Amino acid sequence: MNKYVLILLGAIGVGKGTQAQRLAQHLKIPQISTGDILRAEVQAGTELGLEAQRIMNRGELVPDDVIIEVVRKRLLEPDAVRGAILDGFPRTVPQAQALDGLLKDIDLPTPNVVSIEVPQEEIVDRLSSRRVCATCGAVFNLKMNAAAMEQHACPKGQANIIQRDDDRPDTVLQRLKVYEEKTMPLINYYRRAGALRQVSGIGSENEVFARILIAMDPELT
Ligand code: AMP
Repeated sequence: MNKYVLILLGAIGVGKGTQAQRLAQHLKIPQISTGDILRAEVQAGTELGLEAQRIMNRGELVPDDVIIEVVRKRLLEPDAVRGAILDGFPRTVPQAQALDGLLKDIDLPTPNVVSIEVPQEEIVDRLSSRRVCATCGAVFNLKMNAAAMEQHACPKGQANIIQRDDDRPDTVLQRLKVYEEKTMPLINYYRRAGALRQVSGIGSENEVFARILIAMDPELT
């Protein structure tokens, strides 16, 4: 049984979530998005959700030990036995180090890493027009697919299209700053490990998907 772990790196708003969903379908392994898990906790009003909400709204990162535990539990679920597409995790060097240990413990291979790269001005522009369905998580962009947004039939029944609280302009700038400070060092971490592939995130969703497939282990594509 082939096992595979892919980390999608990239600043906020580069299309990681959309590409992670497609890759998960393609490779038949789950997408694990720590942002989605935290938002579900917020909606459910759990203790973790309450703690995370304040931090997320400020554009900061939840503490490493908290998020590592979230990922550990998620990777132990049966659907992740062949691996996963990690989207939004790791985001700091200590998280990456913890992930290396965790993958060894649960007998999953060392991760491949694809970094999706988009210039900062383009990111701010994209995020200000990003909308999501709060019920099912589908992502839209006012500029590109307003029609899809109008026709959206939510698989969970009740479409609820909103702007994420943390997509407001001041929080976006803070999130980009946190990305530069805390997450950029991961590029070097994985480059040194020989695991890093970099692709441009400019162009259509299909074009970026094709680039990622080429950048990944060719046996899988
Ligand atoms: P995302 O949907 O990936 O942009 O995540 C939204 C927010 O959730 C982030 O701005 C952080 O506050 C929090 N978050 C998600 N993943 C992590 C992580 N790996 N480490 C710390 N905080 C995270």
